[in-house]
Amino acid sequence: MELQIYIDGKWYPKSEAKISIFDHGLLYGDGVFEGIRAYEGLIFKLDDHLKRLWESAHTIMLKVPMEVKEMKAAIIETLKRNRLTDAYIRVVVTRGVGDLGLSPWLCKKATVFIITDKISLYPKSFYQKGLEIITVPTVRNLPEAVNPSIKSLNYLNNIMAKIEAKNGGCMEALMLNHQGYVAECTGDNVFMAKRTGKGSALKDFVLLTPPTYLGSLKGITRQAILEIAEKIKLPSEERVITRHDLFNADEVFLTGTAAEVIPVVKIDGRGIGDGIPGKITKLLLKHFHELTHKDGVCYTL
Ligand code: PMP
Repeated sequence: MELQIYIDGKWYPKSEAKISIFDHGLLYGDGVFEGIRAYEGLIFKLDDHLKRLWESAHTIMLKVPMEVKEMKAAIIETLKRNRLTDAYIRVVVTRGVGDLGLSPWLCKKATVFIITDKISLYPKSFYQKGLEIITVPTVRNLPEAVNPSIKSLNYLNNIMAKIEAKNGGCMEALMLNHQGYVAECTGDNVFMAKRTGKGSALKDFVLLTPPTYLGSLKGITRQAILEIAEKIKLPSEERVITRHDLFNADEVFLTGTAAEVIPVVKIDGRGIGDGIPGKITKLLLKHFHELTHKDGVCYTL
């Protein structure tokens, strides 16, 4: 069966799911989106994702043309029509159809579409061996320009960084902000763990991630990891981080809806810690997996 796509209240087979070439989402990247996941019939942090979607829309003065309740129902119905219990869910709200001018006021109604598909997982080897990443020249968007907290359709900043990472022989890019502080990766937040005590218990480490005002998305996975850290009594803090800090961390990992928790073992040619995925990364991934399979909005096919 062909994938069924939701567009503005109706479902269409993938081959017939089309939006206008005059949609400002396409013409200008004028719109917002979310990437959400379902695990065995549980939609992880759906309320948080929809809250972020509505907040992104509010900031760009885009009215989502439906209630949160209706959006939830549309997402669940799309999952059901596609008979998916484990899925990646993409919710997109664009400015809608306008003319060739920038003016958003000429776009009468926002376009909403929802794509649900099988989740394409990162290769297992990434989690076993860890990733090598590279700092790229393209700096993360200035919060005063296009705030990275807005999950907008305008991802060229991240795409430029991704191209530079590939040119440098890596799959993922470390993006700094305009002051040279660590911001995030192209589609994931960054964490590091550093030993602070003499022992090897969790209390002898601190988990650090940059505050989002330095220029990163307020990742839902990032938040979940900070909450897990609190629960397992792993000290954690939002702190300004430099490349030097990352190079000398005991562990570095990335978080995101698609990647979950992925270890980083090399940055700009420097090995991180022991050069293999560390125990804190593995422990947090284990707790994260448990959470995704017990917490969420439940639906049945
Ligand atoms: N940063 C960026 C730039 C992202 O696009 C994403 C989402 N893919 C993330 C971080 C991670 O956010 P989340 O955990 O909410 O998926």
